[in-house]
Amino acid sequence: MKEKISKNVREIPPAIIREMSLRAAAYDNVISLGIGEPDFDTPEHICKAALQDALKGFTHYTPSRGYDDLISALIDHIEASRNIQLKPEQVMVTHGGMGALIASLRAVLDPGDEVIVIEPHFPTYKAQIAFAGGTHVYVSTSFQNRFIVDPIQIEKSITPKTKALIVNSPNNPTGAVMPGDLLDELARIAVENDLIVISDEVYDRLVFEGNHDSIYVRPGMQERTVVVNSFSKAFAMTGWRIGYCFGPEWLIAEALKVATYFTSCPSSIGQRAAMAALKSDQGIFEGMVQEFADRCKIAYERLVAMPGIKVHPTQGSFYLFPSVDELSRDTMKFALDLLDREQVVVIPGEAFGPSGKGCIRISCTVGRSDLIEAMERLERFVRSYR
Ligand code: PLP
Repeated sequence: MKEKISKNVREIPPAIIREMSLRAAAYDNVISLGIGEPDFDTPEHICKAALQDALKGFTHYTPSRGYDDLISALIDHIEASRNIQLKPEQVMVTHGGMGALIASLRAVLDPGDEVIVIEPHFPTYKAQIAFAGGTHVYVSTSFQNRFIVDPIQIEKSITPKTKALIVNSPNNPTGAVMPGDLLDELARIAVENDLIVISDEVYDRLVFEGNHDSIYVRPGMQERTVVVNSFSKAFAMTGWRIGYCFGPEWLIAEALKVATYFTSCPSSIGQRAAMAALKSDQGIFEGMVQEFADRCKIAYERLVAMPGIKVHPTQGSFYLFPSVDELSRDTMKFALDLLDREQVVVIPGEAFGPSGKGCIRISCTVGRSDLIEAMERLERFVRSYR
């Protein structure tokens, strides 16, 4: 009967990140550096505001685009931080950042279309491109080049079937941030080759040095770029499932059709919580970002001193992506042995594409004492793992 399952679905393996968590459930005293979600609970006043709104009747279907007041609060929020101007028709609220990715990819892809994906990458891209009938075309990066893509490789991978390019900065899993001159180059390539760009910026507020920079603000990009964002990471709101995207009106109108037929609308109380988050004193969230930056630094300083490990500091997000290549090329085995011997969960780098092999992803999403304990365990493990 298995052949009755769609080929596109059958060929996508189960998510390794989720699988590592399932395996970890068999052990006691586990410290998980696996899942990319803030350990902070959503601030209490946001939960209360959302619950109050639910009691007031915000429990029905909402406009597919999202509540009008949230759209206008989002426009204020985006315009304040990015020096751009948006009309409500250019913005839509979605079921998490995932919903924005699904809607934008489905809106632009026909079967056989190619999408350039810079890897290592957030694994969802590959699955969503496949579900839409498209084909991912990998452009690799390397630990040696700090996982910064060479634009020449992007140009070389363009074919007449190339429809879109996905850009993700700050990056999951590598923690790298694309420099401005690279964004300039990618924009030039997109314009010259008439590509749509999906710019996944869900970690935009988690940039540790300087300000976030976006391909969207480059010349010629506003008419061809969808920026994907989310409340999940920066506002500690993963479970409320609220994301959003903005881009050219003609494209958002089609993405909205996709979202409407897939999900009807984003969650009503999720949107009320998002509204409360935008109205809050942003200092709470800035404090979280500082904590992630400090933790990444603590982990970096421990990792850099471990034998057989090489690591770059995190520039944005809350991930480190050290190379354990000298210890093991088989990072799936490395991660399983680490779990078995020391009860620490990390994600094998190959989960994020071929050039992730030899690396592991560490999420600094546990408190400092657990993080330090996890580093002790990892050090003990690597000292005996040769
Ligand atoms: N994009 C990237 C790069 C991510 O890391 C994630 C979540 O891990 C998402 C999108 C999805 O975000 P959300 O949880 O809001 O759906």
